[in-house]
Amino acid sequence: MNKGKLPKSGLKLSFEPYNLQLKHVFTLAGSSRSTTPVLLTKLEFDGVTGYGEASMPPYLGESQKTASKFLSNLKLWQFTDPFKMDEILEYVDNSALGNAAAKASVDIALHDLVGKILGFPWFKIWGLSAEKTPVTSYTIGIDKSEIIKQKVKEAQDYKILKVKLGRDNDKEIIQSIREISDLPLCVDVNQGWKDKKRALEMIFWLKENGIEYVEQPMPKENIEDNAWLTSHSPLPVIADEGIQRLVDFKNTVGVYSGINIKLMKCTGLREAHKMINLAKANNMKVMIGCMTETSCAISAAAQISPLADWADLDGNLLIKNDPFSGIKIMDGKILLNEYPGIGIKNL
Ligand code: MG
Repeated sequence: MNKGKLPKSGLKLSFEPYNLQLKHVFTLAGSSRSTTPVLLTKLEFDGVTGYGEASMPPYLGESQKTASKFLSNLKLWQFTDPFKMDEILEYVDNSALGNAAAKASVDIALHDLVGKILGFPWFKIWGLSAEKTPVTSYTIGIDKSEIIKQKVKEAQDYKILKVKLGRDNDKEIIQSIREISDLPLCVDVNQGWKDKKRALEMIFWLKENGIEYVEQPMPKENIEDNAWLTSHSPLPVIADEGIQRLVDFKNTVGVYSGINIKLMKCTGLREAHKMINLAKANNMKVMIGCMTETSCAISAAAQISPLADWADLDGNLLIKNDPFSGIKIMDGKILLNEYPGIGIKNL
């Protein structure tokens, strides 16, 4: 080190827990809840702040406590050049197993920081076209017929609705939606169907009722059954629970027609980008999904969405206390903005 010259200070990471309040109680095939715990991160360098987020729905195994512990152990001050993103994020990934959402919160904050230093949003840095963003589905949770109908009426601005199935009243739910709406639908079974032949019959019935694709119909462990179902299915079958990270991709080839990539599962934008390229090279469909998240993580995912066939980026629309303003949905389509980084402003 040169005498008399202070070392350049490195990246400064800080974080705080935050609880998202949901507009409606959210029911999946396995559980119900009305709040989602998240952790909001900040990464500062040379007077510029990047924002990130870890969203941790309880069934995925991370919590504000585990994420805080993981982030507290990171020594990001050792990095004095935020442009060495690969090196920084590899260090973060290698510092402990698991912790995908906590890792994503650093990845998102670093992308936001670097984009802000460069002065461009990431979709531009990647050379993507804002016009190519997909429409986003809007999720209708499992509920009583009357409530489902009410939710569908509220969602008429969307071009496709995502319906959660996987209990014993699947046909009833679809029929009650069809009484009041002929919007295209996709369904997410969240591993709820156990018998492959009944699942296939159901998919044929769904196709007749205007459903476009089926997400995670059977338990992820039933690889042979999922492969059989995909090869016989008249609709694309998309893996969600069946894939988390890049390393899992090989297990989806020949088993599903496409993959649902979520930043919270795959540790962030850096790995999501690699997964998209791999899926495309294998002729598989790509969907960009989300958890219940603020506009921070949703806007980050939207940056990469011009590469996706479908998006399910409605997580911020399901909450009452979003601390950020970011991408918007216009006529059901993702509308990217010109804010540098991941496309957000603090409220
Ligand atoms: Mg899903």
